[in-house]
Amino acid sequence: MQTSSNRKKLVIGNWKMNGSSTANASLLRSVLPVISRFESVEVAVCPPFPYLTTVADLLDDSDVSLGAQNLSSQLSGAHTGEVSASMLHDLGCRFVLVGHSERRALYSENDDLVAEKFAAALRAGLIPVLCVGETLAQRQGGETEAIVTTQLSAVLKAVGIQDLVKGVIAYEPVWAIGTGETATPEQAQAVHRHIRQWLADEDRVAAADCRILYGGSVKADNAEQLFNQPDIDGGLIGGASLDAMSFAAICRAAEANPTTESIAI
Ligand code: PEP
Repeated sequence: MQTSSNRKKLVIGNWKMNGSSTANASLLRSVLPVISRFESVEVAVCPPFPYLTTVADLLDDSDVSLGAQNLSSQLSGAHTGEVSASMLHDLGCRFVLVGHSERRALYSENDDLVAEKFAAALRAGLIPVLCVGETLAQRQGGETEAIVTTQLSAVLKAVGIQDLVKGVIAYEPVWAIGTGETATPEQAQAVHRHIRQWLADEDRVAAADCRILYGGSVKADNAEQLFNQPDIDGGLIGGASLDAMSFAAICRAAEANPTTESIAI
């Protein structure tokens, strides 16, 4: 069956633990005049927590949204060092990354905690960007679809399909993050297709509207081929989002490849 899609391309810059007051201002001064001209792509940047307020001020007159890289699953109280969803909302964040592979691998975030964080983000009015993806060993073992499905299922079980699709999904093969190794457009499209079909098994209309981003060494010279795949609705960009020219070129590639077609699911 043909279901028409309604998905504006989305490009999110994940600055990770990089930047300074001076470097952030200089990056945004260079990139904002270029990316503010785009109409059919939505853009966001996710600075480290300490810079959210100053970056919010720098973004003030632009269409670029603010996002955070992490949040607590807890509402408030005795959780030293944690940052709650409502605080992020209060600071003007629209998006928050949830379950990035670096947090899963380096900070022991499991699927249940990721699902709790996803739910906490939604409750506070944020749009969670749920990161899923397989390691190299898992890909080589033919487990990619099973791993991605397990990661998604934990969130589905916690919040249900209608709330799951209020978020954004980012397929980020772990072996492609920060390595310079990118999934081929065909490899990425195949997993995005699998994710959309999995969503469609729950709700076809929700699946057609849900944005699924690709992340993993997206650069100016490979963005176009990735973004013209029918189920790739933009990108989550790490390293290249720290370089004004590269990030602007990636946003331009998204602008040039709007999602227009109806998709059979
Ligand atoms: C990321 O951090 O989500 C990411 C995709 O990083 P990079 O673009 O550097 O691979």
